[in-house]
Amino acid sequence: MSKLIECSVHGKSEPAYTCAHIKDSLNDGKPRGFNMMRDDDDEIQAFCDTCWNASDEEWDALNADGPRLLCFGCLMKVAEINNTTIDAHE
Ligand SMILES: [Zn+2]
Ligand SMILES: [Zn+2]
Repeated sequence: MSKLIECSVHGKSEPAYTCAHIKDSLNDGKPRGFNMMRDDDDEIQAFCDTCWNASDEEWDALNADGPRLLCFGCLMKVAEINNTTIDAHE
């Protein structure tokens, strides 16, 4: 298990690295697609449909400020916005 982050809403939670647009969806409630995976270090990553299908160059342009860090609870909220659910033990 990766180390926990402190979320002002959800308290101590597992961190998730996301593209900027997943964070945008959390802020404005609009679905942009939701694609989740765990990387080789067992860290959660999540991307909108555009970033999921982007090349490395497109990714750099879309995420000029770098990836965002969300807590797992916030990530579940974005999954809900996109009408999908995620399994914490996946
Ligand atoms: Zn994105
Ligand atoms: Zn949270």
